Amino acid sequence: MYIVMITPECAPIAKVGGLGDVVQGLSNELSIRGNTVELILPKYDCMRYERIWGLEKTYNNLWVPYHDQWIPCDVYFGFAEGLKCFFIEPHNGFFQRGTYYGQPDDPQRFAFFCKAALEFMLRSNKYPEIIHCHDWQTGLVPVLLFEQYKYLGMTHPRVCYTLHNMRHQGVTGGHILQQVGLDPAAYMTPERLLDHTYPHGVNLMKGGIVFSNFITTVSPRYLDEIRYTDQGYGLQHTLHEHSQKLGGILNGVDYKVWNPDIDPYIAARYNLKTLDKKYENKTALRHRLWLRDEYKPIVGVISRLDPQKGVELIRHALFYCLANGCQFVLLGASASNSINADFWYLKQYLNDDPDCHLEIGYDEDLAHQIYAGADMLIVPSIYEPCGLTQMIAMKYGTVPIVRHVGGLADTVFDANYAHKPYHERNGFVFHDFNHEGIEAALHRAIGLWYEYPQYFRELMENGMRYDFSWNHPGQHYLNIYHHIQEI
Ligand code: ADP
Repeated sequence: MYIVMITPECAPIAKVGGLGDVVQGLSNELSIRGNTVELILPKYDCMRYERIWGLEKTYNNLWVPYHDQWIPCDVYFGFAEGLKCFFIEPHNGFFQRGTYYGQPDDPQRFAFFCKAALEFMLRSNKYPEIIHCHDWQTGLVPVLLFEQYKYLGMTHPRVCYTLHNMRHQGVTGGHILQQVGLDPAAYMTPERLLDHTYPHGVNLMKGGIVFSNFITTVSPRYLDEIRYTDQGYGLQHTLHEHSQKLGGILNGVDYKVWNPDIDPYIAARYNLKTLDKKYENKTALRHRLWLRDEYKPIVGVISRLDPQKGVELIRHALFYCLANGCQFVLLGASASNSINADFWYLKQYLNDDPDCHLEIGYDEDLAHQIYAGADMLIVPSIYEPCGLTQMIAMKYGTVPIVRHVGGLADTVFDANYAHKPYHERNGFVFHDFNHEGIEAALHRAIGLWYEYPQYFRELMENGMRYDFSWNHPGQHYLNIYHHIQEI
């Protein structure tokens, strides 16, 4: 099958969070299974160019109709970890901002990207069977495909649209439709792209939902949460109306990247049979972060420091852990200046503590070393569409402590309370989003580590035995692709 992913992110070249990992992991899996997979991304100036192989201009002067003019673009081709990627570079500087997101004109930038991606496919005679789009940034792709490009000859492709995070929907003014050549009067209706909250707003994610042939969320539980709770952020009704084309597929983890047996970034490689070597990584992590060598568990956090991730509980857990015989390591960065400033302050405040290290920033290598060196990893999210860190942690024998929400609830089963036999339990789970909630889980986890190390080790091994690879989800997506081709 010929599949084109139109995406704002792909790890490791352009990654902000899990979306980048998912696009890379799923594309790899589909390629391994013999499909032709190509990716189309914006050519951001801040991408990790050293990880792109053979980058060269492949298409000069792609003229994209936008507003009342034509914007010239160049299209580049290169391989990102073996994946074929096309990068669109408009000459108007839309992606020369030194950052991926967070610009006031983000809706315009990505609406333009959708239009340019389709224009490129049309001009270069690409007629894939499947176009797979991701999040609000690409919500206009199915709208433009079925309302414009179909009539220019692109009759073949079917669209699968994946919702990674409903919190960000790309709500903007009606002018954006005009800019991409759609008549606002025809599309700003409740059953099409009109936003449910802002009377004159266009909701780009809603466009993706309404016009795609199939919609997936990144875990089954998140699908229920967005349909039946306020996690749908106002799109519950739209999702109900399109319930016949919805599915929840748990994300996978790319075990070529996240696997302690072959990980090039860690001090000692290990697997289930050589688990003792994990402790060499604990020592190495302590040395790298100037932590003292003492008989204590290391509790880790690897996260965007976004309110979604339970920043307040992360901060509380830090002090609870330090007061209860643990070391604490955090790797995180925030798009919010005030959250960053908060954690910089904490970092200075705890600067002399030999049991604590806060790394404020984004660091791929250190992330690998924390997964390998920590004993536990906390993920106290307010909501979590899927969450990859808990699944990666398990592969590294690091026990997750998570809140019972979204994909976390689908993947972590409590050591004491899960309705599962002990050999299938793999972590600690709490329900209430408050200090007592996370303290109760930490108390049980730390207690088990100190008092019953053999049981704690069993939990580590149980987690390592789980298969969160792309094998199952990859097949699931292929089934969906086949299904929508027959529509
Ligand atoms: P989200 O997509 O909401 O950020 P996920 O758990 O789905 O959360 O994915 C997070 C991904 O980003 C994981 O691969 C994690 O290792 C990585 N990550 C998060 N924060 C950092 C950071 N500060 N430095 C390096 N990697 C990070």
